Amino acid sequence: MLLKTRGVVVKTINLGEADKIITLLSEKFGKIQAVAKGARRTRSRFIAGTQLFCYGDFLLYKGKTWHYVNQADIINSFYKIRNDLEVLSGSTYIVQLIAEVAQPEQPSEALFDLAVEALRTMSEGEGDTQLVIRAVELKIMDIAGFRPVLSRCVNCGKAQRLHWFSPSSGGVLCNDCRKTDVCCYNISPATLEFMKTLINWNLTRVRCIKINNKILKELESIMRAFIGIHIDKSFSTVRFMDNIRKLE
Ligand SMILES: [Zn+2]
Repeated sequence: MLLKTRGVVVKTINLGEADKIITLLSEKFGKIQAVAKGARRTRSRFIAGTQLFCYGDFLLYKGKTWHYVNQADIINSFYKIRNDLEVLSGSTYIVQLIAEVAQPEQPSEALFDLAVEALRTMSEGEGDTQLVIRAVELKIMDIAGFRPVLSRCVNCGKAQRLHWFSPSSGGVLCNDCRKTDVCCYNISPATLEFMKTLINWNLTRVRCIKINNKILKELESIMRAFIGIHIDKSFSTVRFMDNIRKLE
C-alpha cells in the first residue's frame, strides 16, 4: 500500500551501512517512521529529502512491519538553519519536542503548521533565536493540551497578585496560594504579560518583539520546568544549547 503525504523530518537514525530511519511529522497520518533504503549513499535519490528539518511531499510504501520511503520531493530543506550553531541546536530541540508530543495516526493540523512555521522562522534567522524558541515551546505545549493558565490563579481562581507560576499545576498562583506548590517560580508581571503575548501572537509577529534579557531568562527557567514535568523526557540538545550560548 502506498501512502502519500506532506511531511517534515523531525528525527533521523542511521541504520546499518547506508540506510536511515526517519520520523516524519506527516500532515495526513501524524507521526510516522519510515526506512529510507540507501539514503546515506552519496548518489541516493533520498539523500537530501531525508535530512533532518526537510519539508516535502513523501510517498511511503507500507510493508509488513515498516514503512519505506518511496519518494521524497523537497519543498524546503531550510538549509540556512545549518549556518548558525545556536539556530541549529535550537531547531534540533524544537523538532525533538515536536516528535515527542506528536502521536502516530493522529494528524494535527495545528502541530504540522507550527512545525513548518517554526523551521521557516528559524531558517530566516530574523529576531532573537531564544525568543522564537520560547514562543514555539509555549505553542507546542498548548497544542499538546497543556496551555498554561495565565489570567487567574489555578488554585483559587483569583485574578489579582499573580506572582507565582506552578509548573506542575500548569499556571499562575496568587500570593495566598503560593504555599500549595513548594516548587513554584516567581514570575514578574512583565514576564506574565510576555507569556500571554507569545501564546497568542503568530511567529511572524513574535520575531519582531524586542525584549530584555531578564524577562527572557525568567521565562526560560519557567518553560524548562513546565516542559520537564509534563513531557516526560530529557532533551539532550538543551545542555548543548546552553554550552553554545556560553561560547558567545
Ligand atoms: Zn489563589
